[in-house]
Amino acid sequence: MFKLNGEDICRESPPDSEEIPAKYLPTARQALDIMRTRILGKYRCDEIFSSLPGGKSLRDLYNGLDIWINYDPSNDGTDYGWTMPDTFPYDIVITQYTLRMGRWCTLGTIVHELAHLNGAPGGDSTAAEDTLKSCGLRSRSGPYEPGVKG
Ligand SMILES: [Zn+2]
Repeated sequence: MFKLNGEDICRESPPDSEEIPAKYLPTARQALDIMRTRILGKYRCDEIFSSLPGGKSLRDLYNGLDIWINYDPSNDGTDYGWTMPDTFPYDIVITQYTLRMGRWCTLGTIVHELAHLNGAPGGDSTAAEDTLKSCGLRSRSGPYEPGVKG
């Protein structure tokens, strides 16, 4: 399951992340609802996630230990989210910009960051973003962005 830092009482979150402000909690909740009702168990999401170095399917991640969604007030339009898999393997950080862009952008970012928690490399790799294609998140208007690295 996912927990929202700000809705649920969070333990220590990654440095420079904080509680999701109340006004963005509905967007985050909507993104998770879409994942649960329209993506989990569908498309090729379990197959693509299982192929990552961590080897867990999307369903494994969803049903495993709680994964926390945290907030970064960054709002510059270039940073969507981040993780620190080595030290915070059950935390995703989503920026204010992403939440402002709405539930689909938030969902796409959560899936991208989940891929990093499951071992998708950063740097020049497109592995994390490419998982969106196999999770029903590819349309003309996004949220999948071909060629996004890291
Ligand atoms: Zn990334």
